[in-house]
Amino acid sequence: MRERLVVIGNGMAGIRVVEEILKRDSHRYEILIFGSEQEPAYDRIMLSSVLSGEKRMDEIIIHSLDWYEQNGIRLVTGREAVSLERKSKIVHTDDGGRIPYDKLILATGANAVFLNVPGKNLHGVLVYRSHLDVQEMIAISRQKKRAVVIGGGLLGLEAAHGLVKQGMDVTVVHIFDTLMDRQLDFVSGKMLKQALEDRGIKFLMPKTTKSLVSDETGWVRAVRFQDGTEIEAELMVVTVGILPRIDLALRSGLNCQRGIVVDDYMGTSDPAILAVGECVEHRGATYGLVAPLYEMARTCAEVLTEVPGKDVTDSRRLQQSHALQPYKVTPYKGSTTSAKLKVVGVDMFSAGKHTGDPWTEDIIIQDHFLGIYKKLVVRENRIVGIVLYGDTEDATWYFQMLKESRDISDIRDRVIFGRAIVNSKSDQTPGLSAALTNEMEVCGCNGVCKGAIVQAIQSLRLTSLEEVRAHTKASASCGSCTPLVKDILLSTLGPGSEISPTREGICACTQASAEDIREAIRAQHLLTIEAVMTALSWKSPEGCSTCRPALNYYLLSEFSGEYRDHFRSRFVNERLHANIQKDGTYSVVPRMWGGLTSPSELRAIADVADKYGIPTVKVTGGQRIDLLGVKKEDLPGVWRDLNAAGMVSGHAYGKALRTVKTCVGSEWCRFGVQDSTTMGVRLEKMTWGTWTPHKVKLAASGCPRNCAEATIKDLGVVAVDSGWEIHVGGNGGMKVRVADLLCKVKTQEEVLEYTGAFLQLYRKEAHYLERTAHWIERVGIAFVKEKLIQDPEGRKCLYREFLESQESSQVDPWAALSASRADLKEFVTFNMLEAEA
Ligand SMILES: Cc1cc2nc3c(=O)[nH]c(=O)nc-3n(C[C@H](O)[C@H](O)[C@H](O)COP(=O)(O)OP(=O)(O)OC[C@H]3O[C@@H](n4cnc5c(N)ncnc54)[C@H](O)[C@@H]3O)c2cc1C
Ligand code: SF4
Repeated sequence: MRERLVVIGNGMAGIRVVEEILKRDSHRYEILIFGSEQEPAYDRIMLSSVLSGEKRMDEIIIHSLDWYEQNGIRLVTGREAVSLERKSKIVHTDDGGRIPYDKLILATGANAVFLNVPGKNLHGVLVYRSHLDVQEMIAISRQKKRAVVIGGGLLGLEAAHGLVKQGMDVTVVHIFDTLMDRQLDFVSGKMLKQALEDRGIKFLMPKTTKSLVSDETGWVRAVRFQDGTEIEAELMVVTVGILPRIDLALRSGLNCQRGIVVDDYMGTSDPAILAVGECVEHRGATYGLVAPLYEMARTCAEVLTEVPGKDVTDSRRLQQSHALQPYKVTPYKGSTTSAKLKVVGVDMFSAGKHTGDPWTEDIIIQDHFLGIYKKLVVRENRIVGIVLYGDTEDATWYFQMLKESRDISDIRDRVIFGRAIVNSKSDQTPGLSAALTNEMEVCGCNGVCKGAIVQAIQSLRLTSLEEVRAHTKASASCGSCTPLVKDILLSTLGPGSEISPTREGICACTQASAEDIREAIRAQHLLTIEAVMTALSWKSPEGCSTCRPALNYYLLSEFSGEYRDHFRSRFVNERLHANIQKDGTYSVVPRMWGGLTSPSELRAIADVADKYGIPTVKVTGGQRIDLLGVKKEDLPGVWRDLNAAGMVSGHAYGKALRTVKTCVGSEWCRFGVQDSTTMGVRLEKMTWGTWTPHKVKLAASGCPRNCAEATIKDLGVVAVDSGWEIHVGGNGGMKVRVADLLCKVKTQEEVLEYTGAFLQLYRKEAHYLERTAHWIERVGIAFVKEKLIQDPEGRKCLYREFLESQESSQVDPWAALSASRADLKEFVTFNMLEAEA
């Protein structure tokens, strides 16, 4: 039996250890990861790009749920480990769960420090740490105008920039008179302040906050300072530092000081427990950046995989006697860190001592006109500090010299002018990367060294920056190492070579765009995923979890009757006809046509809930009943029983039609001018079972009061005296989009025609995973009107195509599976079914 490895903390450190373990020995452990946040692990450093609107949350998720599933990892999100029973090796969770382990990794990260002043608990006062914080800031920025950020450090400036991008009036309040005072000296701090003022951020510094002032509703209204002055604030973001999250470790009796104390092998005071990331204290130091925690993760994974059959106690005893050498565990000896400012668009780099002392000398050049400032702090001819502002091209080179403590006596007269000058005088190759050895780190964010990049370029024949990013992660985060990565690419490809222009391929396996793929499928009449991959020279023969579902969809939407759906290329929810939930159980939603149900259907649902011990029965936002907490092995039985009562799958898991929401309309309502319920039922009967690029929701309201919220649906119809208004491209999710009015029609038949045609156009034109809202924003509502309004023949043709494709799509998966495997009970049987499909 495999050893049980439990990881507490699904953040950047926790997930990195797991990746490193899988790389070395993917079969060694049965892995379970806990995260108290709701999302699968995400790249926390990219939250600033989400706040500034440059990225969406789904773009910064490190691995999709499919990745966890494919690697046999159980992920439990939204749940907190509250204590450890160390003797019997059990983790207790906040919902009363008891999880046994053989080895445990603590990767609990850090908490943002909160300002301890009166008023700190007012509404509108936030820290900047998690996705929830970002969501809340964006939501507040939609309603309020003035934001104050307390703290002029790296995080505070990124928060301020993001809030300006969200349209707020932002003032940064800082206790010192230099921004980023732990990384910059007075001159560079002043240059940075000027650059940020030019970008619309205001500053109050030095200022010490005394209290926060409330309005009559308990929302923050102003910030009051020690000097008696005040500034208006409707949103206040506190970014004054972090504290390692050690509460669980402390409660469990582990040795903690500022962080959980670990040795050079990431071992804690309990031999079965290791710790990594911001939560640890190593040789007296704690860290708040990713590069060190990636180094820790590597050592941790080596310890856990390189000593077969030994437990950590034994391995550490061996390490102490240096007997571990043959097992290649590299001890973690601490990190020298550097800082860069992302997103804001200012080139800045700092490492080591940024201000001198009586034992150091400064070498400085400064050009106000060009906005360039470079300072090297030198002690005994060795660089001990670097501050670069405006030109950071040589940052890695200087940083490497600092880390190696290189004697610079031979180049001291010109070192400040940069590598090009130094190398040209000594007749060395002037290329940016030429002076780097293979072990030198190029991308600090992701801990990638030059050797790894060169190896990937050579072995995978990479020719573009995008490919290097996808395969090595170098340059994929803050981007400051991009020139260096390009240079490595160029020099590895050899003289006279060129970097392929970056093309927006749908994933790292291909340079083909969605349009290229659709065109090839149509023109060459391709009928399998493998045929598309061959025709478009896919780089990885198997594809990946991004391109396989996309190809499956493009083929299905093009040749719906002819193409045989490739079941295993669907996401896990679609494969299991249910939504996987955070605790590993599933939820099942039967279809309720137009939101209508009957006593017998309700009875059948209640019977199923009783029979299978389903803990939660919930009415959804789309007017259906959700059965939550269904065990995987019970799924076939649940489908069969609901099916026997006349219900079909609601496709609540699919990139497909979900619901058609209705109001009670003219049949019951005093205001109703049309029968919206019948309209909704007809729409749902026509459209269910269709596969679409993303999920699709419809609604029908009986009058302009619009109780079914039809104007924030992918397609919504609103009854008026003379007929129906049809609205398209709405979205009620994270970013609300009000639908565009497509047209007005008179009859229900016309509504059906326009709806079918619209959905068919969307199915044929949109990229896979593009909601109607994003698609319409990309192509413009004029394009949709041109196809559906100005071209009645084209519209009718699209409608016909839609109805034809529905003939082969309206197959209820529950009925099909129940009929073919009446005795489906076990998970094992279920897997066989998947394999055969
Ligand atoms: C906005 C922002 C920008 C940043 N920018 C940069 C940058 O440019 N460069 C850089 O190097 N660093 C940056 N950082 C810092 C970097 O993100 C952190 O160093 C890194 O994320 C820490 O990783 P971690 O895994 O140790 O902690 P985290 O990523 O915080 O993960 C810890 C996880 O453990 C969970 N957890 C804690 N306790 C429990 C429990 N008892 N049970 C279950 N789960 C638990 C937490 O919910 C959390 O999800 C930035 C941070 C922020 C917030
Ligand atoms: S939308 Fe109009 S018809 Fe429908 S329930 Fe509301 S008020 Fe009544």
